[in-house]
Amino acid sequence: MPERKKMEESFTPEQDLPPVLTSQEESSEEGVLAAVFHEAKRPLEFCLLPRPELQPGETLVRVVCCTLCGSDLHTIAGRRNESSPSILGHEILGVVEEVSNEPAVDVHGDPLKPGDRITWSICVSCGRCDRCLGGLPQKCRHLHKYGHGRAEGRFALSGGLAEAILLRPDSTIIKVPDELPDHVACPANCATATVMAAFNAVGSVEGKRVLLLGAGLLGLTAAAVATYRGADATAMSDPAPERLSLAQQFGADGQIDPSGFDVVMDFSGSVDAIEAAIESANIGAKIVLVGSVMKCDDMKLNPEQVIRKCWQIHGIHNYAPADLVDAVQFLTEQHQSFPFAELVSAEFSLEQIDHAIRYAEKHRPIRVAVRPGVSDEDH
Ligand SMILES: [Zn+2]
Ligand SMILES: [Zn+2]
Repeated sequence: MPERKKMEESFTPEQDLPPVLTSQEESSEEGVLAAVFHEAKRPLEFCLLPRPELQPGETLVRVVCCTLCGSDLHTIAGRRNESSPSILGHEILGVVEEVSNEPAVDVHGDPLKPGDRITWSICVSCGRCDRCLGGLPQKCRHLHKYGHGRAEGRFALSGGLAEAILLRPDSTIIKVPDELPDHVACPANCATATVMAAFNAVGSVEGKRVLLLGAGLLGLTAAAVATYRGADATAMSDPAPERLSLAQQFGADGQIDPSGFDVVMDFSGSVDAIEAAIESANIGAKIVLVGSVMKCDDMKLNPEQVIRKCWQIHGIHNYAPADLVDAVQFLTEQHQSFPFAELVSAEFSLEQIDHAIRYAEKHRPIRVAVRPGVSDEDH
């Protein structure tokens, strides 16, 4: 396919090139199967993408397993906008398939080699712009996010709903210990790392009273982190009783005095829940907003109260590389203390992706997993 070759050779990231996607009929042996998102409420399209020739610092990774994040489901259902065509899925556990002649290194500076079991930051940042240098690499002026944005040019393999993904140079890559189960490791680079960013923003929670809003994967993870880090009390607020009892398995306390919280973290995105929770914040409380990642109403907040109570309010969006390091370390040390492995309630092959999406929308489990390397017959 000479035309495609030419497109790849002339690619620079600044150019807005048409996507390199072929329909499954034009299959070639070297193709990589991907489920491509075109528009909301339309089934993903199976395409074979060319296997890229690696440039220095790039890594071709086989997708072992990818859990569907809430944001993926919001995009597919049309509750959230995403440019397309794109390959969704960012909560990925992978195994290095091929490295370039100048292999990328992991966060410890060790070169990657085929067979390494890895996770990586969703965000690839330049490391040189004012935002990167100012401590917010996740807001880099040249940011790329895996599982987001258009799948195009030679970086078309950019998401987890495919057999393989191409990691760009300067990706933050961490080797995942063998003892960490696939299903537990997948969300490390999304939910777990974001929760770590929230805790790193508030500092120590030892002896503190912590209120968490929203018992999804982030809230449950936060309950486990608060418990592990010695919070005096960890309260969970969620309208679903079954989620509340699940939260107790992650360390949340059952009956608790609903006032005087030193730390309030919202993962629900519910403005009503946040307003109610703020009423129960203690003097000097740290209030962390994480969940409102879609268009939402304004929130009522009285400035005099913020001042007189000396509150600190933090907004957390995505995370920095150090938070991902903390996430992998936390899961490695604590995944057996809390039932993280039970949070993925079903697994599907890549060919079954539409079933996976329907299952997730209908049953609203904490997570479902997609395992591209597995054929339909194995399921
Ligand atoms: Zn996510
Ligand atoms: Zn930057």
